[in-house]
Amino acid sequence: MKKVFIYFFAFLFICFVLPALLTKTEINAISNTNDEKEEEKQILENYTYNQYGTIRLLHADTNEVEEVALDSYLCNVVSAEMPVDFEKEALKAQAIVARTYTIYKIKNKKHDNADICDDSNCCQAWISKEDRLARWEEDKEAKWNKIEECVKETQGKMITYNNEPINAFFHSNSGGKTELPVDVWGGRQ
Ligand SMILES: [Zn+2]
Repeated sequence: MKKVFIYFFAFLFICFVLPALLTKTEINAISNTNDEKEEEKQILENYTYNQYGTIRLLHADTNEVEEVALDSYLCNVVSAEMPVDFEKEALKAQAIVARTYTIYKIKNKKHDNADICDDSNCCQAWISKEDRLARWEEDKEAKWNKIEECVKETQGKMITYNNEPINAFFHSNSGGKTELPVDVWGGRQ
């Protein structure tokens, strides 16, 4: 008789308790994945590419403010900051750094009426497509297309720390030595 009870409880355990336990574990696993996805989504929404689709660019020499699409602006920046015959990966890295720097500037404004200016001594270098093409001697359109491709292939990418864009300084030539930003501009190390 005792054996019957043992079998009966074992049967109950296998049929009801075990599946319930397994299902619960599975639900937890799913909700963890959902939490992670939600967190990822949140980060993306905070820094969604579209949020910074258009920027206000101040032309330092004329004092005019122009509204431009961010990626279109980045093509002008990349073509001003780096020679087009550099490797594509270098141009792509430049595009990401320039995008990060631009978005940092949008969030930490230096100019009252604009997000960023085209003076490299103040914000970030910029050259119009027209002027850029005029300075290249051959394969003008192919060269411009290469820059556009590099910007497009890094679309939406930027460098963040604690989910905030970093102040992405860059230079064309360090003269063989570098200095800690804190020793030049102050702030925290
Ligand atoms: Zn500026």
